[in-house]
Amino acid sequence: MSLVDALARLDVRIPQFEPGHVWLAGAGPGHLAGLTLEVVAALGLADAIVYDALVDAAALKASPQAEAHFVGKRAGQPSATQSFINELIVRLAQENKRVLRLKGGDPNVFGRGGEEASALSAAGIPFRFLPGVTSAFGALASAGIPATLRGVNKAIILATGHGIDDTDHLDWASLARTGQPIVVYMGMSNLPVIVEGLRRGGLAEATPVAVIQGATTAKERLLVSDLARVDADVRAAGIVPPALIVVGEIVAHRHALGSLIREAILP
Ligand code: SAH
Repeated sequence: MSLVDALARLDVRIPQFEPGHVWLAGAGPGHLAGLTLEVVAALGLADAIVYDALVDAAALKASPQAEAHFVGKRAGQPSATQSFINELIVRLAQENKRVLRLKGGDPNVFGRGGEEASALSAAGIPFRFLPGVTSAFGALASAGIPATLRGVNKAIILATGHGIDDTDHLDWASLARTGQPIVVYMGMSNLPVIVEGLRRGGLAEATPVAVIQGATTAKERLLVSDLARVDADVRAAGIVPPALIVVGEIVAHRHALGSLIREAILP
């Protein structure tokens, strides 16, 4: 049966997308197959789409009727400021459009969905969140690493490597002391600081670390290393953002699980 037939049989019902409303949606980790059915439906109904660099622009093919506003980073140009984006979605809604605000991953996992929701609330504009698969889980799945494994971890920490400013660092040593695996978003530029903090928290040099670039996209690369070598390995391999850093024993269990999806690019 084709995808179209399968979808027709499901007869998925979604809430009414009213003119003047904003839907703050996650597009998943990268590949179009990671869009939820609700987001696909919203693409078909929207009058205006405001999307980021982490969203595959090919998703807009499902939305030929909508005006598209790109607010991500374009080669050399910085991304639009948050206040510009807030004002844009408010204005489009006030023009009585159905506005789909599409972000990479999940809108509320390091996605500033809350800030946009506050701006909409302040302007009296109705909105709802449409969750997406956050990149951490897309990347772990691609790499064959279990997010939780009985007997190995009882929690998984999602952390950002980037604070509001240079003084706004997480206490990496305290996170290390929990003994639970940590997935770091936006961590590439602060990797040496993060590694140092984790060491101070008692993590062994041999603690397994994976770095996953462009998970689920054509640019996906996987590096498997350890705490001692990861910074040098990342540089040697030329891993670039967007990438996630996964620290902890769960990384070693990709071997234990048997059939590997692909081999590491460095030993
Ligand atoms: N809301 C997004 C995260 C936005 S913050 C989510 O839920 O995934 C941006 C960071 O997300 C990037 O710096 C990177 O660390 C991570 N990221 C997003 N997409 C990714 C992908 N396909 N592969 C690896 N990392 C990704």
